[in-house]
Amino acid sequence: MHHNPNLLSRFLTLHNQIKFGTILLLLAFSAVAVTFLNGLHEMLELVSWNAQANEVTNRLYAVDRKLLDENLSDKARTIALENLMDEANSLNKLLDTDSQQRERLARLQEALGNWQGRADLVGKMRGQIRELLQSQAQLVTQKQAEAERLHRRLLLTGGILCLLIGGLALLFSGWLTRRITEPVQQLLVAMERVSLGDVAPHVEDQNPNELGQLARAFNQMAESLSARQTKNRELDELYYFNTMLQTSESESEIHRALLQQVRTLNLSQALILDWEKDIGGLIVVAALYPLPEAGADGFSSHYQIPLCRVVRSGREVVLPDLSSDLICTNCHFGQQRGSAYCVPIIASGKPIGALHLVSTQLDYWTADRQRLIKAFVDQAAAAIHNLRLMDQLRGRALMDEQTQVHNRRYLDDYLRKQLAVADRQRRYLSIMMLDIDYFKRFNDTYGHEAGDIVLKQFAQALKGALREGEMIARYGGEEFTVVLHGNAREAQTLAERLRRAVASLSFSQFTTNGEDVKITMSIGIAEFPSSGHTLEEILKAADLALYQAKDAGRNCVKVATRTLLRVRAAMQ
Ligand code: GH3
Ligand code: MG
Ligand code: MG
Repeated sequence: MHHNPNLLSRFLTLHNQIKFGTILLLLAFSAVAVTFLNGLHEMLELVSWNAQANEVTNRLYAVDRKLLDENLSDKARTIALENLMDEANSLNKLLDTDSQQRERLARLQEALGNWQGRADLVGKMRGQIRELLQSQAQLVTQKQAEAERLHRRLLLTGGILCLLIGGLALLFSGWLTRRITEPVQQLLVAMERVSLGDVAPHVEDQNPNELGQLARAFNQMAESLSARQTKNRELDELYYFNTMLQTSESESEIHRALLQQVRTLNLSQALILDWEKDIGGLIVVAALYPLPEAGADGFSSHYQIPLCRVVRSGREVVLPDLSSDLICTNCHFGQQRGSAYCVPIIASGKPIGALHLVSTQLDYWTADRQRLIKAFVDQAAAAIHNLRLMDQLRGRALMDEQTQVHNRRYLDDYLRKQLAVADRQRRYLSIMMLDIDYFKRFNDTYGHEAGDIVLKQFAQALKGALREGEMIARYGGEEFTVVLHGNAREAQTLAERLRRAVASLSFSQFTTNGEDVKITMSIGIAEFPSSGHTLEEILKAADLALYQAKDAGRNCVKVATRTLLRVRAAMQ
């Protein structure tokens, strides 16, 4: 059956329900009232009939008494006869409801008409009167029984109808109250929950009446409130994440903050991949849960992964079911079930890595979740980018632009740290001061610009000759400093190697007379802790050793010995 829902719902409003219920009750009451009035009317008719019947009886007795009076004169008898005729006529009117009685009365009237005072007819007439009286009495008993029955019927049907209507009224009001109070109660509870902070209570809203409308409006309100609260919570989280990022001093801190942020999701793993351009692949730089140990499953101990499509293209990938995935297989690390979402980390337009998230739940990555995660990743990407830019700037501030080796500022910082480490670990640290021989003369001969070029090549040659853990910085002018972990003897070996490397450099492009253009350098070495304890003491000692090398004829290496230091100290 097809209903027009609008029409039906318009009809089923509470207002209409109350109206129709009341009308029905009123109709029922009216029916009872009509029944009662009807019964009452019948009763009244019976009462008036009874009065009539009594009068008939009284008059009949009166006629009978007159007939009995034998002392009447003829004249009086004639008058009595006329009266009797009148009386019988009026009785005729009173008896118009009963035909048999009327017939009997007609016979009595006939007898009265023929009477003419004859005494022999009196008995017959009295017999007729008695007959009339008896029938009248019978009629009265009959009518009385009828009245009693009517009375009982009236009481019974009235009572039953009253009970029925009372019951109906009770049922109707109960039903109506339930229909009103139950949804109102639900609404009240839901409102209380909202006031306590629960923003997503749902109330039954299928009622096709005003309360249903109210419930639907409430549900809509709760939904929009919930949406707004979710938005607010997300904004709070983003704000909190942002402050975390602002106080992060390294990329690993940013990685940890990002993992911390996503761990509230239903995750079985979260990986942060960094694109290492040098190796042309990705490296897992952070993982929410430990990855399987290397070896057993053939994973690389550094968790190196070939460059993937997400990072290469800078486009995220959603994998609703890992078991049928052929895209991110390198990031599964043994996990077979669940779903994954991989977002590229993009810094200033270029992908630099990815955040790979795995949930044990299938189809876990809803549009809302993706949106929030992307917001986190974008913020983290910007922070990483800033950090890298800062590092670059800081690197520039610590580099010597001209020679592309570290500058004096970096040297001081580095030396102070390395001295502290060497002191703590009770290890040697050697410092050498290198100075180009007769560089003033070189400048004078070949020009300052040629000197600049030589200086640059000299520095690069030294840098290239150093091994890991050995550091070179420009101390100032054409003086350089090399720091290495090792004692003076090891430093001496290195210094000799460097000296020879420099000596082998050739700058024939500056030649004016066909001769090869060469430079040499002198080197002074100081050793921690024997040559001094503080940065200043050690540098001073290395400088002294350098002067000694210059004194000794240049292009040689000298170590700051105790005697030298003592002599120098005595001289000051
Ligand atoms: P020696 O060290 O052997 O005693 O003689 P020297 O001529 O090298 O003497 P000194 O160390 O006093 O002179 C350093 C010279 O190096 C002075 C300066 O002209 C030159 N010099 C310093 N810095 C630069 C530079 O950046 N470019 C060029 N072209 N020359 C520089
Ligand atoms: Mg010098
Ligand atoms: Mg010099």
